Amino acid sequence: MRQKLGQHFLINKSAIQKIVAALNLQPNDTVIEIGPGKGSLTLPLIKICREINCQLIAVEKDPTLAKELGENIQITNHKLQIIEGDALKVLSGIIPNSLFKIQKYKVVGNIPYYITGKLLRVLSELENKPELTILMIQREVAERVCAQQPKMNLLAAAVQFWANPAMLFTLQPSDFSPPPQVESAVIKLALRTAANSSQPDNYYRLIRAVYKQPRKTLFNNLRSGLEIRENELKTALKTLKIDPESRPQNLSLAQLELLTNLLFVSLGKKEL
Ligand code: SAM
Repeated sequence: MRQKLGQHFLINKSAIQKIVAALNLQPNDTVIEIGPGKGSLTLPLIKICREINCQLIAVEKDPTLAKELGENIQITNHKLQIIEGDALKVLSGIIPNSLFKIQKYKVVGNIPYYITGKLLRVLSELENKPELTILMIQREVAERVCAQQPKMNLLAAAVQFWANPAMLFTLQPSDFSPPPQVESAVIKLALRTAANSSQPDNYYRLIRAVYKQPRKTLFNNLRSGLEIRENELKTALKTLKIDPESRPQNLSLAQLELLTNLLFVSLGKKEL
């Protein structure tokens, strides 16, 4: 067992069922599993995929586990693939593979928790994002991803720009073998259908400035982070009826998008 790869295998059968159900698989869906390990989720997924004719691509970094899983499941058609590799690289297209041809897909994984931040970033940067993502992650991180004002934070603002998150359920360390040291939660990220009103580059630049020092006021963070003139900033915040003294955690997603548009587009602050 390689602790280094965050190998904590899911042994709670009801949780496995709930994760598979959350994917809401439909005929002809394609699902990408990150880190299948010994197949806790993969085996039930294969069963459904065979029944309703879905495609499953499982990406496992540990060569031994990838080989063993491949031997166990008797791949009978091209709709089932075990790829040995780093899911982050496979998803971001660094390793060429069949994912390039996929138009619409879902992602699922009881992932090693140390890749959570990187994975969410990779997903956010994909041109063709998954329509639905179901992930087991550390509970504390799940709460941050799903937070709203007055608990808004950089991670929530980043994820919610492209997905609507929901916390589905939580798990205890004893639901895994070996048990991790932290509590876990399963989150659902549904691709946002309403168009984002802001340019992604501008938006991400804005939120990095807003949440750089979460305890400082919005005004101070924006002024120092975006090097914007005081009077311009005051006018922009007044236009949007946002209190300059408010703390970054009190901003809503809509306010962050409006602020991006006003500061970057109306004020022409494009090259930051
Ligand atoms: N899905 C299995 C389960 O629920 O029992 C295993 C979950 S375990 C928490 C995480 C799995 O991801 C391990 O099998 C580990 O080897 C694999 N893994 C770690 N880093 C990975 C990466 N970058 N890409 C793909 N798989 C990875």
